[in-house]
Amino acid sequence: MDYREVEGMREYVARLDHGRDWRGQIEDFAAAEDIDAAFFFGLGAVRDATLLFYDQGRQEYEAVEFDEPFEVVPAVGNISWLDGERFAHTHMTLSREDGSVVAGHLDTATTFAGELYVREFDTKLERAHDETTDLDLWPL
Ligand code: ZN
Repeated sequence: MDYREVEGMREYVARLDHGRDWRGQIEDFAAAEDIDAAFFFGLGAVRDATLLFYDQGRQEYEAVEFDEPFEVVPAVGNISWLDGERFAHTHMTLSREDGSVVAGHLDTATTFAGELYVREFDTKLERAHDETTDLDLWPL
């Protein structure tokens, strides 16, 4: 395991905009506030979602699209740099009216309502290609 000691910096609470992409809003916020590393938690609801599942054998993401409303119970993620842009790596657990859930790595979701807590760190995290997994991971 590689690691780096970080110090907590600014903290934020935010309300996501209705009708906008969940992850895109977080990335826009990070750019506006010059955040180079952070973790966040979120909850709320979305109108649809596209989740990605990483096939470890083929080393490719497979998209699964859901065109239905969900509660976000919750979303968790982090902010770091990927290919020259801020990327909000986001995982979501989404529940239906009957309490059943789907979950995964978030690609896109249209926000119905959302609340966020963000904690910034005093470092810059930049993802780099990892040969073993073919993923973009933190070289710490
Ligand atoms: Zn992921």
